[in-house]
Amino acid sequence: MGNNITALQGFKDIVPADIALWREVEECVREVVGRFQCVEIRLPILEASELFIRSIGEQTDIVEKEMYTFVDKKVTIRPEATASLLRAYIEHRLHLSNPVQRFFTIGPMFRHERPQKGRLRQFHQADVEFLGSDNARVDAELLAMGAMIFALLAIPIRLELNSLGCPVCRPPYRGVLVSFLQQRLDFLCEDCRRRSVTNPLRVLDCKKEKCRAQLDGAPALLDYLCEPCRVHFTQVRTCADGLGLDYHINTAMVRGLDYYVRTTFEFVTDELGSQAAVCAGGRYDGLIEMLGGGPVPGIGFALGLERTVLLLRKHRREAAPVRDLDLFIAALGDDAAARCFTLMHTLRTAGLRVNMGSGSLKSQMKQADRAGAPLVIICGENELAEGKVVLRDMATKQQEDVELQDNGILLRLRQLLER
Ligand code: ATP
Ligand code: MG
Repeated sequence: MGNNITALQGFKDIVPADIALWREVEECVREVVGRFQCVEIRLPILEASELFIRSIGEQTDIVEKEMYTFVDKKVTIRPEATASLLRAYIEHRLHLSNPVQRFFTIGPMFRHERPQKGRLRQFHQADVEFLGSDNARVDAELLAMGAMIFALLAIPIRLELNSLGCPVCRPPYRGVLVSFLQQRLDFLCEDCRRRSVTNPLRVLDCKKEKCRAQLDGAPALLDYLCEPCRVHFTQVRTCADGLGLDYHINTAMVRGLDYYVRTTFEFVTDELGSQAAVCAGGRYDGLIEMLGGGPVPGIGFALGLERTVLLLRKHRREAAPVRDLDLFIAALGDDAAARCFTLMHTLRTAGLRVNMGSGSLKSQMKQADRAGAPLVIICGENELAEGKVVLRDMATKQQEDVELQDNGILLRLRQLLER
């Protein structure tokens, strides 16, 4: 003891007691994305560094400061999934079977940033990408999908919406913003002074009070959209309204990745301190082409699983009861244990979740309780001699004798479990 090896800072175990919530979130995601004909894809964790530099952008927080890159090999453990997914989409020519396709993937992402509650160095995302359409209806569908996931989990959330324009209207706006920032340079934080040159839109997103105060009255990109972008944004809103989606326009919302155009959005909460964004995404028309694919538009989001689990725990009044087992077998004595051992195997083969204990009857009943087993079989030397077992229903506390015969026991257990 004393100098045990522990997990690295920002890397966290998800222990068995937390798994129920994790699975609930993951199963909810799978259920909802399935309603939108979204198919699963699984991607490698390591990619060429160049993939992220090209797609996310050189002058972003992620690429500048947060990526885990092995310099000698020029490879990076992925900080997000969109780039990898598009790389795979292009590499496998998936567009050939059908240009309009929807994918999701769930897995760990890695960013070297300061760990805090809801902010880790290895974290997990459920990532959804709708490829092949720039129709505003698709944007509304994706927003609806996000809202549906949180509604199903009964997590209150706020949807914020913005448009980041396109390569036609963003540069002129950028110019207007830069001159606005130039006049306030002395009052901005060090990061924002640098960003006002390298990535001025990011200044709008600064969380520091000092900078926020300076940004009152900053020009909004929404007022500078070109005609096609303006029309697209209006259509997105009309479609979202048509679905009864509740959202707020946030003109200051910019995303930390360069590839976004037009629709961008975040599902945010006030309940996790400054880690407000739980799910975020946007449109990235042009990115697939830039990565060497065809002119395929796309839109997607990434839902942070850690933050969703934190919220789910907060809004759950009570934890779901543990039920790791259908049946617990308390055998007393070596001979009974040997006979029950084969019984256990038969029952498992038949599909039941079964385990045996050891020790005194009292201690084994405690083990059964902890596993949440609704049924317990008790078999001591007397029962064995009489060729029977005692079957106890843990909820009603009723006990009955059942002949010690595998198939007979299986039948009776099935009857009881089905009730
Ligand atoms: P933030 O503003 O919190 O840094 P981000 O803009 O960097 O978020 P994205 O890259 O858009 O986040 O990722 C989408 C989601 O992934 C976030 O909304 C969040 O829920 C989650 N996420 C991002 N970074 C982390 C992290 N370091 N730890 C835990 N979750 C994260
Ligand atoms: Mg970040």
